[in-house]
Amino acid sequence: MPELLSNFIGGQWVAGQGAGTALFDPVLGTEIARVDATGLDLQAGFAFAREVGGPALRALTYRERGALLAAVGKVLQTHRDAYYEISTANSGTVKNDTAVDVDGGIYTLGTYAKMGDTLGDRRFLLDGEPARLGKEPLFQSQHVLTPTRGVALFINAFNFPSWGLWEKAAPALLAGVPVIIKPATATAWLTQRMVQDVVNAGILPVGALSVVCGSSAGLMDALQPFDVVSFTGSAETAAVIRSHPAVTQHSVRVNIEADSVNSALLLPGEGADSPAVELLVKEVAREMTQKSGQKCTAIRRVLVPEALYTTVAQAVAARLAKTTVGNPRNEVVRMGALVNRAQLATVREGLQRLQTQTEVLHDGSTQALVDADPAVACCVGPTLLGTRNAAGSDAAHLVHDTEVFGPVATLVPYRDAAHALRLIRRGQGSLVASLYGTDAGALAATALELADSHGRVHIISPDVANQHTGHGNVMPQSLHGGPGRAGGGEELGGARALNFYHRRSALQASTEVLAAL
Ligand code: NAP
Repeated sequence: MPELLSNFIGGQWVAGQGAGTALFDPVLGTEIARVDATGLDLQAGFAFAREVGGPALRALTYRERGALLAAVGKVLQTHRDAYYEISTANSGTVKNDTAVDVDGGIYTLGTYAKMGDTLGDRRFLLDGEPARLGKEPLFQSQHVLTPTRGVALFINAFNFPSWGLWEKAAPALLAGVPVIIKPATATAWLTQRMVQDVVNAGILPVGALSVVCGSSAGLMDALQPFDVVSFTGSAETAAVIRSHPAVTQHSVRVNIEADSVNSALLLPGEGADSPAVELLVKEVAREMTQKSGQKCTAIRRVLVPEALYTTVAQAVAARLAKTTVGNPRNEVVRMGALVNRAQLATVREGLQRLQTQTEVLHDGSTQALVDADPAVACCVGPTLLGTRNAAGSDAAHLVHDTEVFGPVATLVPYRDAAHALRLIRRGQGSLVASLYGTDAGALAATALELADSHGRVHIISPDVANQHTGHGNVMPQSLHGGPGRAGGGEELGGARALNFYHRRSALQASTEVLAAL
């Protein structure tokens, strides 16, 4: 009988009282664990985090909390091999894709651990300079940021059980706010194991880190006005969270990271032999296949000048044809599985829908699998679609609306720069757009045109060919999130991430009092 994963809440390990929901190996189809949150006293668990974990964290300075994050990172490093095994078994990922999740999470923790040193031996942050309130300089206003005295509830998506936990938890814990993580059920095992290892190591104050695996029922009901909730997942669930009374009536602060139809744009004026074309092609193929396209930041639309449509189509297709798909335990496999049968069905259905308005430029849907049974494994080869010509790009509304959360992208030819920008904006706000070109001025101008509708613009010129961090890679130094359809959220971005976990307040006082802060 597979293990029923325990929840850690209220400072104790608690098993759910129901039969639980099964987690599966998406390649072998075997049941590997179960999760269950039935019967947990969530109200008491949240209160414990608020009343025990919160004060203990807030008693520490940023430097001390940073040191705790560094210690957490060390513990995770120690168990890294186990995390890789869990990822292979539960997410069906090849080693390189596991690294994005596991090592990406550890790297993000390390970044915030170092930030603790920079913020130093203090327990609040000054926000800006004092501003004089009257004619005399004596009475002034100084804004301060103090940690919120609530909990941070994280509801995460299935595709990043490690990184999704730590990219949120690192800034929260550094800010002094206790964390309750609810991982997506499908891949909850890795999150649960990481929390278990950290709890067992006894690094964090009791109540600082809790995990609830299984149903989300009751989690939002347990929130109170000074709590915050950070959600990553689909737009549909985001709408449920946004309309919950905790948010609409009690002003619980909410951050939403939702889906997004991200673009890559080859700027006009590049010839077929331009290094920019090669850079675009390489990145598109990588983005389509990394984590089997199950990345919120993955490239979904590839915009190229009409004259280069066939050149780019052939070059991307040639790369995709070399991608071996199947069992991630086999060394020759480059791309593993989708997370489960439900996602496989959703991807196939989305692909069919997109095909009603596009042509197939590379068909991976029937690709032979390596070491995997197609009747069981949730694997699918990468598929490149295209809208044929610029008029087709205008007409194919599904291409600009539909996020197929798998190894699927569409080549979208455009007439001129203005047309390309109009097409990109039809995504209604995205997490990231990447630009490829050789003209620095044109790249900079285009980036500014797209900045308001994108959380991040990733600009690739040949001089950074070997140094850039990748279109879809979320770096803790840069903002993650996007306006509009992408959810309107903001995460990471260096120290900016701490703002969400602090409350801003204006202190109006004499210069002497302000100096005593
Ligand atoms: P999802 O179905 O919306 O689930 C996300 C999380 O919400 C899961 O933990 C889920 O729990 C929970 N949930 C479901 N219903 C809920 C409710 N009524 N109240 C509270 N929580 C609830 O999304 P997903 O399928 O896991 O993730 C795929 C989507 O996430 C894609 O569209 C992708 O673009 C997006 N995503 C965005 C980002 C980003 O940073 N912007 C990153 C990764 C993924 P259960 O699993 O138990 O149902």
